[in-house]
Amino acid sequence: MPQYLDGVRLLHHREQQTTTDATLTFAVGARDETLPTVGVAHALEHLVMSTVRRLPIQIDATVDTTATSFVASGTPERVGEFLTGICAALANPPVERLEVEAGVLAAEDGWVTHPMAALLYFIRYGARGAGLDWLDGPGPDGLTADQVTAFAQRWFTADNAVLQLTGPIPADLKLPLPTGSRPQHQHYPARQFAGPAVVGIGIPGAAVLLSLPNTDAARTAALATDVLQQRIEESARHGGGHSYVVDYDAVQQQDGTTDWVLYAEAREGAEQEVAQAVVESLTDLAADGPSEEELQLALDRFEEERATTDAELGAEFNVLRRELFGEPPAEPLDPERVRATRPDDLAAVLRAALPTAIGYAAEQAVEQWTKHGFTEVSLCPVGEELPAGEEFRPPRMARLFVREARETALVVTPDELAVREEDGVHRVRWDEVAGVMRAGDGTTVVFGTDGCVILVSGDLYRGGQKVVAELERRVDRSLWFQESRFKAED
Ligand SMILES: [Zn+2]
Repeated sequence: MPQYLDGVRLLHHREQQTTTDATLTFAVGARDETLPTVGVAHALEHLVMSTVRRLPIQIDATVDTTATSFVASGTPERVGEFLTGICAALANPPVERLEVEAGVLAAEDGWVTHPMAALLYFIRYGARGAGLDWLDGPGPDGLTADQVTAFAQRWFTADNAVLQLTGPIPADLKLPLPTGSRPQHQHYPARQFAGPAVVGIGIPGAAVLLSLPNTDAARTAALATDVLQQRIEESARHGGGHSYVVDYDAVQQQDGTTDWVLYAEAREGAEQEVAQAVVESLTDLAADGPSEEELQLALDRFEEERATTDAELGAEFNVLRRELFGEPPAEPLDPERVRATRPDDLAAVLRAALPTAIGYAAEQAVEQWTKHGFTEVSLCPVGEELPAGEEFRPPRMARLFVREARETALVVTPDELAVREEDGVHRVRWDEVAGVMRAGDGTTVVFGTDGCVILVSGDLYRGGQKVVAELERRVDRSLWFQESRFKAED
């Protein structure tokens, strides 16, 4: 029978120990924010942890793209105090500390995920869902008490939580969380490309995003990405010493696939070698599969992990996790099927993912991808034709002296805002505005949900103030935010 504590699903690991290890996980993360509330989950986590900081035990908390977790280890009594304190603070966040905590958050400058992973989610999903990992939003000083409280009330409920306990259950444990119905996650369509795509900007390194199935009993995708990561490490790190971090990030999707991002940072000057290592590892494995030795290593790592974790409870947590996130159920993991995996199986799963793969390389190394059939794409959709509407041009002086300004035009129509720049036409529909930022220098920055960004001001366009007024009339107040003063200082 499933166990519940104050409405929270409890998974109890029955190890023989006198101390208690607790992990309280909520099915909410950075991808459940919106552009004007980017960072709200992290801010809430800080506020809540500030109320239990003085407990003399090991405590920690994390917010990633999909989940928020609070962790503690210690005597059962102290762990019980921690859990009760966390839940009480989530039910009633100490928002009066928001201003103090903003400085701490700014100094921490914590990434939700690695910038290469964040960028690739942004290419895939634009300014929403996991794509928000890439964007700053209002910064910690721009979040309001109301936004923090509303986010806590919606997502940090008993129905959206799982408590994992190892060791004794604290006596009289109370988890004073609000109850109600389980909150539903928004899901967003992926940007479509005609085939494998690649994007290049200034982050030193290379990466690839692959969408792989995650419901089969042999967990082929997990093995395939493990083999791919080892191959990249082998060639980028050990081979030439060109790379010092090779790692991955993963976000499960509602359709039974996982977006895996494998990334390798590059030492200065080694961008070509690292890009080549990532591209060739991927394309070689997709063509020929791993060697028997590489496959055996991956299978050994799988066995080792099974031997050192509680497989039954791990499986139970996964079933629960899928339920909370609205993902399709998976076939139960079958160790026999895993052991029966052949090199061809891993090649097949990678090959199937290639048409929708998105590569990344430092811009000077993008050709490492294009020569393998990946097409370079821009960070956001770019079109060719400006729609018909009221047109705004840069001031005359700018057009005389700045070459790019001669082509630039901003157009306002009843449906959208559009701009022609050097690289082409970017459009933001009024009903697809993800947020509008008032920047420190007076510019108004419009973010479209598909990733397009349009800058408007009286300096950039003659009559630009009229466009700003149109934005104020058409875009809901809740979508507006100020640029962070921490960012403006940079
Ligand atoms: Zn665009």
